[in-house]
Amino acid sequence: MRPIVVHVGSEAVPFAKTGGLADVLGALPRAQAELGARTIVITPLYRKETIKAFSAERLGALVPIVVDGQSFTAQVWCAALDAGASCAQPWRAWRRGELGAAAWLVDVPALFQREGLYGPPGGAYADNPLRFTLFVRAAIEAVARFVPETSVLHVHDWQAALLPLLLRRQYAHYPRLARLPVVLTIHNLAYQGVFEASWRLRLGLPEEDFHPDGYEFYGQINFLKAGILASDRVTTVSPTYAREILTPGFGCGLDGFLRRHAEKLSGILNGLDTRLWDPATDPQLPVRYRATSLAGKGRVRAALLRRLGLKIGRASPLFGMVSRLVEQKGVDLVADCIPRWVARGWGIAVLGSGDPVLARMLKRLAAAHPEAVAFIEGYDEALARWIYAGADLFLMPSRFEPCGLAQMIAMRYGTPPVVRATGGLKDTVVDADADPDRGTGFAFDEATPQALDAACRR
Ligand code: ADP
Repeated sequence: MRPIVVHVGSEAVPFAKTGGLADVLGALPRAQAELGARTIVITPLYRKETIKAFSAERLGALVPIVVDGQSFTAQVWCAALDAGASCAQPWRAWRRGELGAAAWLVDVPALFQREGLYGPPGGAYADNPLRFTLFVRAAIEAVARFVPETSVLHVHDWQAALLPLLLRRQYAHYPRLARLPVVLTIHNLAYQGVFEASWRLRLGLPEEDFHPDGYEFYGQINFLKAGILASDRVTTVSPTYAREILTPGFGCGLDGFLRRHAEKLSGILNGLDTRLWDPATDPQLPVRYRATSLAGKGRVRAALLRRLGLKIGRASPLFGMVSRLVEQKGVDLVADCIPRWVARGWGIAVLGSGDPVLARMLKRLAAAHPEAVAFIEGYDEALARWIYAGADLFLMPSRFEPCGLAQMIAMRYGTPPVVRATGGLKDTVVDADADPDRGTGFAFDEATPQALDAACRR
């Protein structure tokens, strides 16, 4: 019997993406399917066009779900998780065992078909607690109705973290399901889903667990804490981060709680989908290349410099960065270094969106040094690939990094990353000076512009 693993999370490639969670939810279920499991990933439907674009098949409507005094009817659609798999009837194919990994898209237009996944640019929707409570209740109803024989439920991040608590407390009418093993993966402990206590009643959360050893968090409710409490196993995305989050410096206020649950916590390093990220086949690149023949990489660099209007010498390094603009990623450290890099004739291309203050900082630097500094504000998958391929070095000076996929993509594209030795960056990048035979990049310790600059000089 092939086990059935059902993942639940708020974004998955190729349907919707804001960060690494989507990469993992697109890749992990497919990797598990290749190992013999049958997998489903349940995720919200954010854009109506997705149905047509991915030939999704309608599974049906779920029973009406009442949250916050409102009744919602969710439709469930099924698509192949592999964008390349042409599949006319994906659900039937999955049922017959011909399709290893499927996605279920939960369709509640009033809640999910909006401008952003979690909020307008730089913000959060006020009804996010309602949206993601409804989402996990819909996931439970969908599993109960369409795959009651599921072996394991695997929920990801705060948006899905209420699932195990609700399942254990409120779904006794599905006795088999209510006892299913649940794994929670924390992709970033900095995002916990903390909301005012008044939401507890509105969302119908169990009263008996609202205390400091439960999901209460300084008088508020905390979705991720509920997940840590009620899951059988908790994983995070690298061994180093699993150790770090047990300390006050990285625990985001949950280190004590995590230490009490440490026996069920482990760190499992993320992987990269090497088919979706491959410079030898990448259809978005202007020129393709492989590890045994790097000539094309130089031509991508030249094309990238032209596209961005940069003019730096042939022997000068071009640094690349593709990132959410948040304090975590050390964007300010990079901004601090840029004037001295420009003075040395170095160039840099940054693609990112997020914090308007960080964006303004980069905009000013690009305006002051138009031939050496390019800042492209926004989210652009094709340009990201040009930067991974065309840069000589990739910058990722994160203050903390649960795993990080960007540095893995950079290494896959032959672009050594310059990283801070923290979390998953420490577990994936081998410093070229510390280990010349196996080195894949450059790592530094202090979160300061001086330490970043010294690593870049090396
Ligand atoms: P995080 O999940 O914390 O944002 P990761 O390194 O794990 O960081 O994953 C980031 C993913 O999002 C990578 O696939 C990266 O290429 C992508 N990404 C981030 N910002 C952008 C952007 N502005 N445009 C295109 N892709 C982006």
